[in-house]
Amino acid sequence: MLLEQLVEKAAQPPEYDWDSYYSWLHGQLAGRETTDYNYWLCKKCLSVNVVYLPARYGKCRSCGLIHLPDDLRKEKMRRSDE
Ligand SMILES: [Zn+2]
Repeated sequence: MLLEQLVEKAAQPPEYDWDSYYSWLHGQLAGRETTDYNYWLCKKCLSVNVVYLPARYGKCRSCGLIHLPDDLRKEKMRRSDE
């Protein structure tokens, strides 16, 4: 690698592997292997909750309302189709 390239690289912010970091972090938080995560809004108390996928359901952290993650997957697919 040329000196100019090294200097240029050093001036740039370091690259982080955020995907790996988040998959590790979510695994730690969920206490198991996770492949993805999503947000859902509680219809009862309007809290925003995180659900780690795969999951059978999400539970609202404020009121305990059960939310089925099937809706979340559909939501995600629709977004990626655009
Ligand atoms: Zn709630």
